[in-house]
Amino acid sequence: MTEYLTDIEIAQTNKMVMIEEVAKKLNLTRQNLELFGNYKAKIDVATLADKEATGKVILVTAITPTPAGEGKTTTVVGLGDALNKIGKKAVIALREPSLGPVFGIKGGAAGGGYAQVVPMEDINLHFTGDFHAIGAANNLLAALLDNHIHQGNMLDIDVNRITWKRCVDMNDRQLRSIVNGLGARVNGIPREDGFEITVASEIMAVLCLATDLKDLKNRLRQMIVAYTRDNEPVTAGDLKAEGAMTALLKEAIKPNLVQTLEKNPAIIHGGPFANIAHGCNSVIATKTAMKLGEYVVTEAGFGADLGAEKFLDIKCRQANITPSAVVVVATVRALKMHGGLAKNQLSEVDLTALEAGLPNLLKHVSNITDVYHLPAVVAINKFPTDSEEEIALITAKCQELNVKVVLSDVWGQGGSGGVALAEEVVAMCDSSENNFSYAYDNEQPIADKITEVVQKIYGGSGVSFAKSAKTAMAKLEHLGYGKLPVCMAKTQYSFSDDPSLLGAPTDFTIEVSQIKVSAGAGFIVVYTGDVMTMPGLPKIPAANSIDVNESGQITGLF
Ligand code: ADP
Ligand code: MG
Repeated sequence: MTEYLTDIEIAQTNKMVMIEEVAKKLNLTRQNLELFGNYKAKIDVATLADKEATGKVILVTAITPTPAGEGKTTTVVGLGDALNKIGKKAVIALREPSLGPVFGIKGGAAGGGYAQVVPMEDINLHFTGDFHAIGAANNLLAALLDNHIHQGNMLDIDVNRITWKRCVDMNDRQLRSIVNGLGARVNGIPREDGFEITVASEIMAVLCLATDLKDLKNRLRQMIVAYTRDNEPVTAGDLKAEGAMTALLKEAIKPNLVQTLEKNPAIIHGGPFANIAHGCNSVIATKTAMKLGEYVVTEAGFGADLGAEKFLDIKCRQANITPSAVVVVATVRALKMHGGLAKNQLSEVDLTALEAGLPNLLKHVSNITDVYHLPAVVAINKFPTDSEEEIALITAKCQELNVKVVLSDVWGQGGSGGVALAEEVVAMCDSSENNFSYAYDNEQPIADKITEVVQKIYGGSGVSFAKSAKTAMAKLEHLGYGKLPVCMAKTQYSFSDDPSLLGAPTDFTIEVSQIKVSAGAGFIVVYTGDVMTMPGLPKIPAANSIDVNESGQITGLF
């Protein structure tokens, strides 16, 4: 079998150009940039204040993920390069990877093959320090909260109802549940506590939805950190924390510019969880890209039922963005898993399993076209193991149903492997009239919004609410949070809340166990099962294979 270079090997044999060269493609000068060495820069958005955000937004989403992998980020990067190749001024907007998972099993998140963003080592490790700043702001708030209690607790905070946690950007299960404040009186009040990974902090979601520093400060002020003994919310504003937190975040709010392997511009900024938060790069990054390019290619986490739904119903609604086209990434391998094959059977040609898996893809596509009224194209992300008959079958079945479909080989060929996809996307942006609408109306009661998502997007029959969820819903509506959009925390492996139900299941009920508010981010988090906000490391962590040689070159990041 052919030997392929690993992602990091491809990235390290590539020669980057100075970041100012990349910036020039967007008519950015040194005045618009704050340099971080030679290959990274922050964009000083204040210098672009007068520019209009007119670029067309293309969302890349995918079928329901399987362990076989889909390749959304790879497709975003390759499509961006392909658009540049056909003469369009295109900018990529992506999330920053979280540090902790890089040392676990996940590996990097900067694309793959010949469709990558670089310097991938920096992007995957500390990058420009944004996540460290978010961690510092998060932990400042935690320190102010416990100090307030220690100093006399004028706000009457119930120590058993503190919702704010400390955070660290590491997969460290040991910190999930802890007891702190032990020892003498001067050491604080002993209480049960816990850590989250930094990307799960509400501050990450806040930073990614804020439109500017003023909005950032306002959102930080509204974050709920605890409840009083009378069950009233206590906010960061009550602790007078928002000013100092904003000071810690004033650089982190600026988007980061890097390059693709083909030297095209990529803006990488922010990276909230895709379950308890909305899972896409910052609004500031997207808007900046819209000011600088004709086309903006961006990604939403997980499958389209979660990622695209939140991108469209939360981010686009809050930021007043109307996307022009949606790309739904599918792979032969993943569709065969949806059709019943096990992971170790995927290299066999199996047209029956492939056809049985297609309803998953088609349900995601019809959600985009029939619920959101946006034009969609399927991108088949070509793997070296795919057979021609399998690709022909997907193509034929999509065409029968008038679903646009294009083969994409950006992993193997970079931008030139995505030219057909780029041309299709440009045609969709140019020709279709846009009737973008949301899956639900924010004015509806919380329960109805959830039901709309379950019935329209997931294909379920209804929702059952646990007693605790019903109580929480009534309380949040009473407190005035009822008009916020819903942010569904559901397994990414199924349209339903049962990860083993692959394909496109119907006649299922979604069980809502708990409902909380992220008042600063501006959404209601709907829990349909347990969500882990502090991951752990596997038995053989990727960290064991990561190394750095005497000249400073990193190996083992993938
Ligand atoms: P996602 O954004 O959907 O999580 P990525 O684009 O990050 O997916 O890809 C996940 C992994 O799969 C990466 O390591 C990437 O190199 C690999 N990959 C993506 N597309 C292909 C492909 N066409 N052939 C082989 N490997 C691929
Ligand atoms: Mg990705």
